[in-house]
Amino acid sequence: MILLGPPGAGKGTQAAILSQTLKIPHISTGDIFRANIKSGTELGVIAKRYIDEGKLVPDDITIGIVEDRLKSDDCINGFIMDGFPRTIPQAEMFDQMLDKHQKAVELVVNIQVPDEAIIKRMSGRRMCACGRTYHVENNPPQKEGLCDTCGGTLYIRDDDREETVIERLKTYHQQTSPLVAYYEAKKLVLNVDGMKPIDETTKEILTAIEKK
Ligand code: ADP
Ligand code: AMP
Repeated sequence: MILLGPPGAGKGTQAAILSQTLKIPHISTGDIFRANIKSGTELGVIAKRYIDEGKLVPDDITIGIVEDRLKSDDCINGFIMDGFPRTIPQAEMFDQMLDKHQKAVELVVNIQVPDEAIIKRMSGRRMCACGRTYHVENNPPQKEGLCDTCGGTLYIRDDDREETVIERLKTYHQQTSPLVAYYEAKKLVLNVDGMKPIDETTKEILTAIEKK
């Protein structure tokens, strides 16, 4: 399954819940880049340059990390892609990668949220290194500043400041939104309203999976 949508649509939030419910891994290219930035790897140094400007990390680098991640045993029964693919070449390469293993994309959930709402959401987003995401008002943790799942200290993403969010939205409209038509042509898209409460969106996605 692929979760598609602008930055801040709720992809990571839904992916974390669906991963627990369906018992398949949540693969976020953004989380992989952030972990590399934190541990100071060469990949992290390169990725940071693009991420800080609200731009996409080049396709060859991104495709390489996904290819590596999909080799893990935990991906055998499926996986949830959050934030990948983000360009048409990435989607084409992903199709080829899956095809090699006699697999294919089964569902693309397109989470729709208007740009105005996104800027507001991002300013209240709080992240945990374990992959869970919170919002100070819409989705707060039980204990302020700490993750409900692992107890880790929550942090604010560098790229969630307003100037960078505006750049990321531009990047989304130019490079990522064409993927909706790419997957619609393959009849794989489920459009969901990302302005609804988090649990309603989860239910809609789970119902679509049951029907498949
Ligand atoms: P993405 O992974 O698409 O960038 P996130 O899952 O990190 O987005 O969500 C962005 C912010 O919006 C987070 O602070 C999250 O808690 C909040 N959020 C997610 N889904 C909803 C929703 N349905 N309604 C309100 N806020 C939401
Ligand atoms: P995310 O956590 O999904 O919001 O991603 C954070 C940032 O990582 C993005 O703004 C991009 O700079 C980079 N990134 C994540 N996924 C991709 C991808 N599939 N292709 C290129 N860049 C990506």
